[in-house]
Parts: sequence; C-alpha cells; structure tokens
Amino acid sequence: MDRSQELERLRTWTERLRTENASLAGVLDAFAPLFAELLKTRAALLAAGLSPVDPDPQRLARRLPRFVDAPLGEYAQAFLASARRILPVMARSFPGISEDLRKLMYALESDAVDSAALMEGVVRGDEAALARQAKSLGVDARSLELAAGLALRPVLEAVGSEVARAATLGAWGQGYCPVCGALPALAILRSSGQDDAYLKNHGGQRWLHCSRCAAQWRFQRHACPHCGNEEHGTLEYRHPEGRAEARADLCRKCNRYLATCDASGALDEPVADVAALGLLPMDVVMQRDGFAPVARTAWNSLDP
Ligand SMILES: [Zn+2]
Ligand SMILES: [Zn+2]
Repeated sequence: MDRSQELERLRTWTERLRTENASLAGVLDAFAPLFAELLKTRAALLAAGLSPVDPDPQRLARRLPRFVDAPLGEYAQAFLASARRILPVMARSFPGISEDLRKLMYALESDAVDSAALMEGVVRGDEAALARQAKSLGVDARSLELAAGLALRPVLEAVGSEVARAATLGAWGQGYCPVCGALPALAILRSSGQDDAYLKNHGGQRWLHCSRCAAQWRFQRHACPHCGNEEHGTLEYRHPEGRAEARADLCRKCNRYLATCDASGALDEPVADVAALGLLPMDVVMQRDGFAPVARTAWNSLDP
C-alpha cells in the first residue's frame, strides 16, 4: 500500500468513526491530522534514504528488542526532520502543551538538547533521564516524553519494519515490542492464515500493535501481554454494549486491560490507531472499574 492509499484509508476510517460516534469528534479532530502527519513523515524519511535495519536473529532469540539498548545517535538527523513535521501538528491539536512544544523545537534546532539521549531516554522508558532533560529545557516531563515519543515513531517505524516481520516469523512470543520494547496499545484479531502449532488457536490470530512505534507482531491468544499470565480463570474479556467487534482483554493477576479490535470477520481491517480511538469510551469504563491500560498512549494522556 502506498502513501496515498494509506492516507485514504485513514480518512475513510476516521469519517466512519465520526459517523458512528459523534462524541469522539473532538478527539478525532485532534488526532486525525497527527496520524496523517506520522504516516507522511515515515514515507518522507524512507524517501530521504532512511532504510530498515536487518533483524538480528541472536537478539530476537534472546527476546531482546532491537533498539532498547542501542545508541540512537545515528538517527539524530531523521529525528530532527521528523520533529519539524510532527511538533507543529501536535501544537495545533493540543494547544495546552504548545508552549512546551515550541521550547523543545527551539532546543532541537539550536542543538541545545542532546537528541540522542532524548531518544534513548524515550525508548528505555528512563523517566529520571527525561525529567532531567525536561527540567533543563523548562518543559513538563510528560509533554517532553509524548512529543519526543511521537517524533521518534516514524523513525522507528521506518527502520524497524523488517525486525517486526522477523520477530513474528520467529515466534517472538513476548508481550513487548520486538523493535522498541514498549507494550501494546491495541490487540487486533485476524482470521487464521497458515497457522503454526505454537500460535494456533480456534478463532484466528492475535496481533499486538506497539504503543510507541506502531510495529505489529503476533502473540498468543490466551496470555496477558503485560505480565505473561496464561491461567484461564484469571483472563477475561468484556464487550462494550452492542459492539461485538470491540472488547477489552483483562488480566486479574496484574489488573491490566488491553483494548482489542476483532477484525477476524472484516473484509476491510480498520486502521489500528483509529480503532484504538474508537475504543476510548471502553477505556473510560475499564479505568473506572479499577483496571489500568497495558500501555499509556498519547490518546489516553493528551487533551485536545
Ligand atoms: Zn515498538
Ligand atoms: Zn497480567
């Protein structure tokens, strides 16, 4: 699928969701331009010569995400190019943090921030390092993490595509992303193709969608991606009223839930990011009932 087809799918699914659920209009107005810019930025980075890295079979066999402990300095230019496109769109969608975004962009342009350390802080989930950088920039730490994370996403998407593919073929089997190590924002159920014994289960395949880099990889149907729990009695799922294609998979061991989109009977699979936005009302219910999401995402953290 080329860029214009992807943008068209994004537009189609956004409009479909807007028609289905008018209460999501504000969220869609804020996030749809951001998703479009993320997609265009990934394409622009690839066109400018950024290329997918080769998977490292030994790291995959040891269940080590490709970039979680790697120096990221070689991607500083790509990160800057991405930030120049993503941050202004974020600032329009989320005026509440626009001042922080302006400060961050200025610091990146004037080399006043160590962008390698910033990218590495995001990928490693090093909150102390991010807090130090936020303090020196005079910005809120969570805004910095979100902005840097979103600017990093097209870079990781561009370089990580082969790693995600290899991880799935190699039965990665972990709940965290083989590219960047983050936990999933969404699970997608798909019809079975040629299933192998390891992942085979009636009802098709379960894929996880990374909350940070949008990589997708296959995972067991009946296991918690957060804590690895496989005990049937402690894994449940709930459907929001009237929506057979949507559900929350929850784990009583760690009290986490994962929003899940059942696309197994669908002719046209939803765009994952848009599907996740469509499940926001369910997130509200699950969190009200005392469950935490498997991963924090921009859409459960930012107010338009
Ligand atoms: Zn990832
Ligand atoms: Zn769990």
